[in-house]
Amino acid sequence: VVDADASGLSVEERIAAIAPHPFATIGFRDCFVPAGNMLGRPGEGFKVAMSTLDIFRPSVGAAALGLGRRALAEAIGRVRERQMFGGPMAQLQTVQTKLADMALEVDASALLVYRAAWVRDVRGGRATREAAMAKLQATEAANRVIDAAVQVFGGLGVRRGTVVEALYREIRPMRIYEGASEVQRLVIGRDLLRASAEAGP
Ligand SMILES: Cc1cc2nc3c(=O)[nH]c(=O)nc-3n(C[C@H](O)[C@H](O)[C@H](O)COP(=O)(O)OP(=O)(O)OC[C@H]3O[C@@H](n4cnc5c(N)ncnc54)[C@H](O)[C@@H]3O)c2cc1C
Repeated sequence: VVDADASGLSVEERIAAIAPHPFATIGFRDCFVPAGNMLGRPGEGFKVAMSTLDIFRPSVGAAALGLGRRALAEAIGRVRERQMFGGPMAQLQTVQTKLADMALEVDASALLVYRAAWVRDVRGGRATREAAMAKLQATEAANRVIDAAVQVFGGLGVRRGTVVEALYREIRPMRIYEGASEVQRLVIGRDLLRASAEAGP
């Protein structure tokens, strides 16, 4: 772990993205890091880095889950309020089934995120497949849920400054960082094959 105020550590370039993620290129020049800051043994850095993904992938999933839940709450609020065809938009059955699909996506994501956290914290050991499934499902589902919320809001949904518009931008990088969705699928597929080979013919 390199402390933010360590001498020799510098922010080379701050990168503006579509969402307000603190995104930058950092540089290390003659940077002194005390031995006590080491997380593993020398030469094991890659292994340590990979094992942190078991924690960070479900964390990204949990963040996406929060964005998806907010989008669902915003959509419910909007359809109860917006008057259309002589009553609230919420009375349209196609709107009710849209909300149902959104809730299904949110709850399925929650269960996979909670499972990954349980495997890591309670059962113990690696949680590679569960972490990848949680990240993949939660980020992809939140993207679909937020997109549906923008649709429910109509023109207001794409206006700068509305909550759903901000969510639409905030969710997008999450399908790329901490391993893109394609990479999560590869991790899951390889782990399924490994487990099957270990179980024998
Ligand atoms: C907001 C943000 C924060 C980030 N934070 C960090 C950070 O803290 N630390 C860090 O190290 N990196 C960070 N990254 C970098 C991030 O991990 C990479 O952007 C990501 O892994 C994709 O790599 P790349 O950008 O080089 O794209 P490329 O490697 O060019 O990949 C482009 C696309 O190809 C597809 N792809 C990739 N591999 C495969 C495959 N095997 N099969 C099929 N398709 C594939 C994916 O759709 C991928 O998005 C961050 C990125 C963003 C946007």
